[in-house]
Amino acid sequence: MKSFLIRNAEIRGQRACVRLRDGRMARMSSDLSPEPTDQVIEANGGALLPGLRDHHIHLLALAAARSSVRCGPPEVENRAALEQALQQAAASRTPENPLRGVGYHESVAGNLDRQSLDAMLGSHPVRIQHRSGALWILNSLALALLELPNGSAPPGVELDESGQPTGRIFREDVWLRARSNKQPAPDLSEVGSLLAAYGVTGVCDATPSNSEDEWGLFARARRSGALPQKLRLMGNERLPAATDDPHLERGAVKFMLDENDLPEADALMEVIRNAHQDGRGVAFHCVTRSELVVALDALERAGPLAMDRIEHASVTPPDLLDWMKRLPIAVVTQPNFLFERGDAYLQEVEERDQPWLYRCAGFLEAQVPLAAGTDAPFGEPDPWAAMQAAVDRRSALGHALSPEEALSPEQALALFQSPLEEPGRGTSPLAEGEPADLVLLKSPWSKARDRLESEGVAATWVAGEKIWHDEA
Ligand SMILES: [Zn+2]
Repeated sequence: MKSFLIRNAEIRGQRACVRLRDGRMARMSSDLSPEPTDQVIEANGGALLPGLRDHHIHLLALAAARSSVRCGPPEVENRAALEQALQQAAASRTPENPLRGVGYHESVAGNLDRQSLDAMLGSHPVRIQHRSGALWILNSLALALLELPNGSAPPGVELDESGQPTGRIFREDVWLRARSNKQPAPDLSEVGSLLAAYGVTGVCDATPSNSEDEWGLFARARRSGALPQKLRLMGNERLPAATDDPHLERGAVKFMLDENDLPEADALMEVIRNAHQDGRGVAFHCVTRSELVVALDALERAGPLAMDRIEHASVTPPDLLDWMKRLPIAVVTQPNFLFERGDAYLQEVEERDQPWLYRCAGFLEAQVPLAAGTDAPFGEPDPWAAMQAAVDRRSALGHALSPEEALSPEQALALFQSPLEEPGRGTSPLAEGEPADLVLLKSPWSKARDRLESEGVAATWVAGEKIWHDEA
């Protein structure tokens, strides 16, 4: 039977050797000599840590985004750069092969529509996703591919005064996918390896539309080894309950709140009660004050449980934090947005909300369970960059964002180390008999903590299997 012996690692400041066998940390001691089945890994004093969990990510969208054109900052800052990026990408493919753009923001070229997109690229069908994930903008050729039935478009398809589609489609991803020509399911292996190199051993996919089909697709990706990480899936109420794979589990019902179209409290309470009856929590997408108020009110009235969560909690003023303290819910935040979007926040977010953006220390002080996810592909997928952002709380241009909310490197690391099923509630222990989901760093923690970066990851194990090793 195969086993690993990790020698001279640093665990909680002490030199230690660890043997991984049968998916677990079988032995841990200050000195262990190799056994015949051991593959020996010399850690040279590097810190051995619980593997990272990204508690909020969108794997299929990330796989698709990595084969898409970047249409927003920092890669693309203005209309000319966008036109150039689209033209360049179009040059390398046939017109039957629609172009997909991601990460658009109005700072590039204002409110895009069909016509303005046609002016930049008329030769190929192209659709561009807004950075929020809530809007697609299609050029005329891409609209034609949808073969929109006259007069029966769903409500998210924006129409002009003459009833013609403007090319802007809001929150209709499921419908769009069904209308689009059968595209092959994205290959998850590149995403699996990317996350392995970051030391990520488990992820929670927070996509609200996850249903039976996605479940099957993820189960196959796990079986083939394309996706080596342990996986918890949020999704809709039709998501299946179990598989024969112990590392694929069903998570919360994901509910998107949109402050322009908030649901009735009764309807929300029904969603919560149904989920709880099904043994599931509810995860509310809340990026504004009013969305958070609606979520907390519905949770409080329906009877909140520890498995309920607030995703993002982007704006949490003191009165709402006091309210959250009284509920047993967890918050899953994205400190990477402070760096990636901070400059736009300083321009766009109301001044009264700015001190309460993506709080970290405030939640910890209030003892609200706090975990983090990158929200990739809407954020960058590197959890180390997110941790450093939680420590620095600076925008890409260097502007400070509520520095009193900053975390220590240890607190930032812990955001990514709680169990998938209990975000923000403690770190998975490093002890004999525990699952071997581990990340080994190249240096001791005392050095790594100075600059949290993914280049510092030496090797990653999931359930005792080595899924990544920096051989350089
Ligand atoms: Zn998300």
